[in-house]
Amino acid sequence: MGMVGGVPGTSTHCPYCALQCAMTLTPSASGLDVSGREFPTNRGGLCQKGWTSADLLRSPARLTTPLMRDRRGDPLEPVSWDAALDRVVREVRATQSLRGADSVAVFGGGGLTNEKAYLLGKFARVALRTANIDYNGRFCMSSAAAAASRAFGIDRGLPFPVEDISTADAVLLVGSNVAETMPPFVQHLAEQRRNGGALIVVDPRRTPTAADATLHLQPAPGTDLALALGLLHIAVADDLIDHAYVAARTSGWDHVAPLVAAWWPERVERVTGTSVGELRLAARLLATADRAMILTARGAEQHAKGTDTVSAFINLALALGLPGRSGSGWGCLTGQGNGQGGREHGQKADQLPGYRRLDDPHARAHVAKVWDIAPEDLPGPGRSAYELLDSLGTDDGPRALLVFGSNVVVSAPRSDRIAQRLGRTDFLCVSDLVLSETAAAADVVLPTAQWAEEDGTLTNLEGRVIRRRRALAPPPGVRTDLAVLADLARRLAAPGRWTDDASEVFDELRAASAGGIADYAGITYERLDREGGVFWPCPSTDHPGTPRLFTDGFPTGDGRARFVPVEHTPPAEDIDGFYDTYLTTGRVLQHYQSGAQTRRIEALVSAVPEPYVEIHPLLAARIGIDDGARVRVRSRRGSAEARAHITDTIRPDTVFMPFHWGGIGNANRVTNPALDPISRMPEFKVCAVQLEPICTDVE
Ligand code: SF4
Repeated sequence: MGMVGGVPGTSTHCPYCALQCAMTLTPSASGLDVSGREFPTNRGGLCQKGWTSADLLRSPARLTTPLMRDRRGDPLEPVSWDAALDRVVREVRATQSLRGADSVAVFGGGGLTNEKAYLLGKFARVALRTANIDYNGRFCMSSAAAAASRAFGIDRGLPFPVEDISTADAVLLVGSNVAETMPPFVQHLAEQRRNGGALIVVDPRRTPTAADATLHLQPAPGTDLALALGLLHIAVADDLIDHAYVAARTSGWDHVAPLVAAWWPERVERVTGTSVGELRLAARLLATADRAMILTARGAEQHAKGTDTVSAFINLALALGLPGRSGSGWGCLTGQGNGQGGREHGQKADQLPGYRRLDDPHARAHVAKVWDIAPEDLPGPGRSAYELLDSLGTDDGPRALLVFGSNVVVSAPRSDRIAQRLGRTDFLCVSDLVLSETAAAADVVLPTAQWAEEDGTLTNLEGRVIRRRRALAPPPGVRTDLAVLADLARRLAAPGRWTDDASEVFDELRAASAGGIADYAGITYERLDREGGVFWPCPSTDHPGTPRLFTDGFPTGDGRARFVPVEHTPPAEDIDGFYDTYLTTGRVLQHYQSGAQTRRIEALVSAVPEPYVEIHPLLAARIGIDDGARVRVRSRRGSAEARAHITDTIRPDTVFMPFHWGGIGNANRVTNPALDPISRMPEFKVCAVQLEPICTDVE
C-alpha cells in the first residue's frame, strides 16, 4: 500500500474487463474509494462498472459462510468450512471410486487470476487426475486464439500495445462495441481519428462505436467471413496486395488467392447486405493506408465458423503486409478480465501452463517435473466447455462438477438444457462471492474472496502481465480460491507442493511456463511492482519483455506467417418462414458477463434494471409491438422474454438482446450451441428466432 494525497492507497486494476484499467483504492468511511490511475490502457479513465466496483465488497448480497444441502430440494444451510470441504472430498472420492477419475469435472473462468487458473489446472490434473477441465473463456476468445495460433504460431490477443492504435492511418474494427464494453479504450480510437486516421466499424447494429466511425458496414449476422473475402477480393483486383511482404514473410497465399477470386463485390453484397460501394470504400481505406490495423472481437468470433472468420481477416492483414509492421497488424480485443492469461496456464481442456499442449510429450515431461509427478500420471485432453456441460449426468459424462468463477446457468448457450444437466449431476460445488444462479443450484457453496481482498496477477488484452494487490482483508469466514484449492488438494492427499501464497504460486507458474509459448519465466512480482507491467514472452529476469511481436519473424518453425484457405458458409441455423428473424447478443455498458456481480450493484441496476430486445421499427410494426411492450423471443431451443426497445440502429431482419440476466430474460435460453469444429466455440452471435407480443391485459 502506498500513499495517495497523504492517505494510504493501493494501486491495482479493475475487477472486470480485459482493458484492466488501473485504479487506486483508498480506505474511506464506506469501505474503499475508487479513483482512476494513469496507465497506458485507460489513461486515468474508468467506466461506470469500474467506478462502482468497490460497492460489492461489503454488499449484503455477499456470501460469508459456506452453504450446504444434504439432498436436492432441501434449502442451503450455513455450515463450517470443515464440514463443506469434507463433503467435497467425500463426494469426489465416492464418485471416482465408482466411475473413475474423469467422472469428476472442473469448470473455471476467464476472470480468475493467473495464479488461480494455473492452480485450478494443476488441481484437476494432479489432485483429481481428471481430464475434464475447461472454462468459460471457451465461450469468449477461443476462435481468435485458434486462428492466431494457426497463422502466427502464437496466440496473444494484441501483438502490440494499445497505444499503437492511435498511430494507425486506418483501423477496421469487426464485431466490437468498445464505446459501451470498454469506454476508456475509445480514447485511443479518438486520438487515431484526430491524427487523421479512418475508422471502419463492422457491426449489424449502429452502436455508439459505429455511429462515431468514418464508415459503418452493417452486414447480416453470420456473414463477416464473406465480407472479409470480399475485401480481399477487391484488394487483389485493384492490385493493392503487398507482394513483397507476401513473398518474404508468409506461406500459403497460392491456396487463398483462387478462393478469394470467387467473392466478387456483387456476390458479397447479396450475401452480407453491405453495398458494393461501401465494400470498395472500406477496402480502399484499409489497403491504401501506410499503417493499418484489423481488430476482431466476439461479433466475428462467436460463431460455428468463428475460427475461419478470424482466419479470413488475418489473411486480409497478411495480404496487405500488416502483421509485424509498425502501427499495423491484426489483433483480437479480448473481453474477460483475464481472458488472455486465463487461456495460457492450464484451465483449458487441451492445455498445460505456458500455452503448452497436453498431447505434446515434451510439454508433459516438463510440467510433470515441476509438479513432481510422472508424465504418464497426467491425464490427456478433456471435453470442451459446452460438451463438458452437456455431458453432465449422462452415462459417459462427469457426475460431479466443481465450478470456480463461472455462472454457466446464465452464460452457456441453450442455458435451460445446461441447467437441467446440472440438476442431473450427483454432486455440484460452486465457489463464488455471491449466490449466482449456478451457486443456487449447488450442493455445496464456498464463499470466496473478491479482487481487492487478494493478491495475484492478470494478463490484459495486450499480453501485459500486471499486479492485482490486496487492499483489505476478506470478511471473516471468506477464503481465497487459492486457499480452497490448496486445502482440498491436501485433503485429497495430492502429491507435490500446495500453497495459497499467490507469489509462491506465481513462481511455480513461471517455472512451469519456462520455455513454453507463453513464457513468464522472467516475470516476478518485484519486476511488476517496479515496472508496472511486463509483456510476455519474457524468458529471463534480464529480458525486457516483448511489447511487439513479429517484428523479426513468426514463431512458426520457418519464420513465416501462414495463410489459411477458408470459405464462407451460412449460419448453423438460418432464418426460414417461421423463425424469420436473426437474434444476436452482446453486452451493455453497465453490466458484465452473466451479471452475477453487476446485477448486485445498485447504481448499475438502476441504470439498466432488466433485459430488453432491440427491434427495428419496420419489424415492430409488422408484428404489432410497441416500444416498452413485453415480447417473447422464441427459437427451436426455447424462449426468452423482455421489453421491446424499438430503434432504427439495428437491421430490420435482426434483433439484439444483452445476455446479462438469468430467468426468463436470459438470452441464452434461445442461443444455438452449434460448435466451431476447431475452437469448440458456440454460435452465440446468430440464431433464427420468431418474435411475438406478450398479451399482458388478461390476468
Ligand atoms: Fe473496468 Fe473494463 Fe470499465 Fe476499465 S473498461 S473500468 S477494466 S470494466
